[in-house]
Amino acid sequence: MFDSLQDRLGSILNGLTGRGALSDKDVGAALREVRRALLEADVSLEVVRDFTEAVRAKAVGAEILKSIKPGQMVVKLVHDELVSMLGSDQVPIDLNAPAPVTIMMVGLQGSGKTTTSAKIAKRLTERQRKKVLMASLDTRRPAAQDQLRILGEQTGVATLPIIAGQGPVEIANRAAQAARLGGYDVLILDTAGRTHIDEPLMVEMADIKVASRPHEILLVADSLTGQDAVNLARSFDSRVGVTGIVLTRVDGDGRGGAALSMRAVTGKPIKLIGVGEKMDALEDFHPGRIADRILG
Ligand code: GDP
Repeated sequence: MFDSLQDRLGSILNGLTGRGALSDKDVGAALREVRRALLEADVSLEVVRDFTEAVRAKAVGAEILKSIKPGQMVVKLVHDELVSMLGSDQVPIDLNAPAPVTIMMVGLQGSGKTTTSAKIAKRLTERQRKKVLMASLDTRRPAAQDQLRILGEQTGVATLPIIAGQGPVEIANRAAQAARLGGYDVLILDTAGRTHIDEPLMVEMADIKVASRPHEILLVADSLTGQDAVNLARSFDSRVGVTGIVLTRVDGDGRGGAALSMRAVTGKPIKLIGVGEKMDALEDFHPGRIADRILG
């Protein structure tokens, strides 16, 4: 669809082979292409700005080596900086707390919260032999609680029995009690979303947090989120305080720039990625792969 960054930088820089160091002017021309590539990958404008400045600082004055083309050299610099900003360490879900460890899932409607809740529950059950209970606190969408129950049946994970008429905080309290009494290791709370961020959503999330004191608060976000990613991540993080991010639909066509935007504005690790609708379609986050994708 687009020329790769490597090709674009090659045509700007490769004529410089064997000519000392990269000048401010050479780097400026290259960075315009880097900026374009990042915007095409849907990285937020403010993050693109900070990122290109970080690359500029490293590139200006860099020695042009004979063994590698200048275009490739800058692509490598950009790639390494992307990986560093995306977070080069794998950060798993933290279960290091007294049982039942509560994981609260937050995010907009349709981002993949319910699906991801069940995927995580399945993974913890199968790989870490944890006894997991899931509860849906989504009292807004009539079918939401049922959707989680059905996924629980499919994956063999217990779900909190549904009692009609209860509010989210009441359900959270009931879930905590059921998890304690039932000897569960992990309690996953799937919360309600909205089509966009609004005050009642943030108030509801804050109330649930106070009632359930989660050890992990995972923001679930669609990897196709464009320029809104910054606002989304910043709002949830400043109002509720997230401990990690799960990026969904990484199997889609998007270039995944939202990963960089959200990581950059919150500093919170991307812990997992969703790569399909099936219950096994959940993977660890590898920054190198997302960096490759962003660069196209
Ligand atoms: P919620 O409203 O945030 O709870 O979102 P859901 O969990 O109901 O997901 C909305 C839709 O996205 C469903 O059809 C899911 O199957 C789908 N979905 C969730 N995660 C992924 C993913 O990683 N890849 C793909 N292709 N679809 C996903």
